[in-house]
Amino acid sequence: MLFVPEHARFRPTVAPRVAPLPPSPDVIVIGAGAAGIASARRLIERGLTVAVLEARNRVGGRAVTTRLRGHAIDLGAHWLHAGPINPLVALGKARGEPLRRAAQGEHLWIGRRPGRAAEEAAFSRAFDVADRAITHAASRSEDGPASQALPRHLGPWGERVARVHSLVSGRPLDEVSLHDWPSLEYGDNFFITGGYGAYLARLALGLPLRLGCPVTGLDWSGPGVRVQLADGGQIAARAAIVTVPVPVLQAAFHFDPPLPNRARDAIGGFLSGLYEHVVLHWPSAPFRGRDRLASVVGGRRKPPGMLTRIDGTPFHYFELDTAFARALDAAGAGPDGARRLARAVLAEHFGRRSLADLAIPAVTAWRHDPWSRGSWAVVPPGHAAARTMLQEPVGERIWFAGEANSRAQWGTAGGAYEEGLRAADRVTDTLTGTSAPTDLRESA
Ligand SMILES: Cc1cc2nc3c(=O)[nH]c(=O)nc-3n(C[C@H](O)[C@H](O)[C@H](O)COP(=O)(O)OP(=O)(O)OC[C@H]3O[C@@H](n4cnc5c(N)ncnc54)[C@H](O)[C@@H]3O)c2cc1C
Repeated sequence: MLFVPEHARFRPTVAPRVAPLPPSPDVIVIGAGAAGIASARRLIERGLTVAVLEARNRVGGRAVTTRLRGHAIDLGAHWLHAGPINPLVALGKARGEPLRRAAQGEHLWIGRRPGRAAEEAAFSRAFDVADRAITHAASRSEDGPASQALPRHLGPWGERVARVHSLVSGRPLDEVSLHDWPSLEYGDNFFITGGYGAYLARLALGLPLRLGCPVTGLDWSGPGVRVQLADGGQIAARAAIVTVPVPVLQAAFHFDPPLPNRARDAIGGFLSGLYEHVVLHWPSAPFRGRDRLASVVGGRRKPPGMLTRIDGTPFHYFELDTAFARALDAAGAGPDGARRLARAVLAEHFGRRSLADLAIPAVTAWRHDPWSRGSWAVVPPGHAAARTMLQEPVGERIWFAGEANSRAQWGTAGGAYEEGLRAADRVTDTLTGTSAPTDLRESA
């Protein structure tokens, strides 16, 4: 079910500032999320003219920062994952952006008490054992569900390890490809003060961009492309970079003529991943320190994931995974249902009295948002080639870019940005007969 979700009502902290579209652009970029912003910046840097068309009235896509009670809070992407290979970390450092390294340790809460040092060590070992087992199985066995490679002997930690991996995968591990799973490099993460969405919005300032401009389809029957707009208009260009999320391509985007089978199969095989923030303002939360994950073990229901004291503020995320999101949707519960659920789960572990100062100012529902239809694209068992298939151009004039294309950084804004740069380089090489620099680094 699609509707305008609550998260769409919050104003971004950085208002978009756009330049007019060129009269006949070389390239049309569809979507102004991380991938679209990267593509547009790179195409311009390499001398092509660009028109970016964005359905929403803001940029950033699934990365948006709003202001809540005086603090900048991300409603989508928040972590800059995979520091050493994330182009947004390299660019952020070059621009002097306020990056901070994410804490390594995390809080462990068992039943109704904090975990002890020995329990924390055993928990962390269980994660290492599981990671090694899945990575090993992925290189040795046929593709299948990632769950089949989880070791059975993780004792009291097994359930938690599976739940965390399912949360970050966007689906329960039996719906995730074993071969795709280990491709994600999560280590050495960063955050950015002021928010990830705000950072992307700054990178988009001044781009030739039309907001509030949904694209319904793309006609590539002639020599270039003709992009069809929801208002009935058309814009022609020599080539297009399509950065629309895969579930939107599956459900609400028309290619004329239809895409070749290989591209259709790649797009059709992805699942929509679920991951949502319930944003807590909870000054008296029992977690100290800044930007730390918390794992809650034991009891009947537990938070699938928590990030506590974001940038040292009283804000925390209570994350919803597929199981919680599906249960809420099956009960027809909207954001207030998610609020009640988060309160009930927290009360079970921390006691009702400790929630006296808890407020829940925002709940996201990217799965119901018509311009995302999910949090990121998940590769199910047997479909592991999809990401690289989606990197291939169609008819030398349509390229796809976005988080779904990224092998090493799937599901992330950094991966989307990198794929946006890659697509822009390939388009430029094709249209100008030149060749791109060999690395994807960008100038500040
Ligand atoms: C709650 C949540 C938490 C997350 N946490 C993290 C995190 O901590 N770190 C991280 O790296 N990643 C995280 N992610 C994932 C990350 O947000 C995405 O992988 C990334 O932002 C995707 O970028 P993209 O450019 O591929 O797609 P998008 O950001 O979705 O951009 C696509 C753009 O296309 C537009 N569009 C869609 N349809 C049309 C159309 N028909 N016509 C025109 N425009 C259209 C959309 O409005 C959007 O602006 C999170 C996601 C969610 C939902």
